[in-house]
Amino acid sequence: MTTWFDSHGHLNDERFDEDRQQLIRELPALGIAGMIVVGYDDDPKRNALTVARMAPWAWAALGVHPHDASSYDDQKEDALRIQCRDLKVVALGEIGLDYHYDFSPRDVQREVFARQIRLAKEVELPIVVHMREATEDTISIIREAGEIPGGIMHCYGGSIETARILLDRGWYISFSGSLTFKNAERLRLVAEQIPKDRILVETDCPYLAPVPMRGKRNQPDWVRFTGETAAYCLGIDEEEFSEITKENTKKAFRFR
Ligand SMILES: [Zn+2]
Ligand SMILES: [Zn+2]
Repeated sequence: MTTWFDSHGHLNDERFDEDRQQLIRELPALGIAGMIVVGYDDDPKRNALTVARMAPWAWAALGVHPHDASSYDDQKEDALRIQCRDLKVVALGEIGLDYHYDFSPRDVQREVFARQIRLAKEVELPIVVHMREATEDTISIIREAGEIPGGIMHCYGGSIETARILLDRGWYISFSGSLTFKNAERLRLVAEQIPKDRILVETDCPYLAPVPMRGKRNQPDWVRFTGETAAYCLGIDEEEFSEITKENTKKAFRFR
């Protein structure tokens, strides 16, 4: 059976409260070899680390999402710093800029993004970045931060030129279900040009369910639909591509 690594999902989201335990039991049989459970705020009920501890094949990324940047303070940073010592925590994320929703003021988003990058450097963890309608500022903050212990641009929707800036810095580019959407021809042309040793696949579940599940609550094993599409874009056999992306994910998150 072809198995996949979902490099970014929110199994900690409340939309999984009903069947989280059951899904976690079933996912290996459904083709999930690994998963990064990604946090977005500090609600203890939604803690990504708590959920990652429920399965030996799950790891956590912790951070404050740009939507919640206004809530970031010294106390939250200290709590993150302590939690990042846990061996199950493999990245700081998701962090970044979201100028589409603007749930936090843009200047605050920029400051909190930069602060969390500094924290990532301090605790020596790669970062998982969310970038929506904020390409220029995201790239300039990344550039200003200098040497970062690794980066993953999640749910990529940008141009090949922006991707190349990140690839040149050693980053990984992760594609979500949006790659499978009918109107995503432009994005598939970008995916085609990503070097095969730098590409990851993710669900971003419960969001962005891929075709043919579009509109439903997304779940980790549906990463295979995105994987199949990406393999097709790159002209690689699906089985081989699943092996490549598993290895890429382990490298991106610096698994030992
Ligand atoms: Zn995101
Ligand atoms: Zn996400």
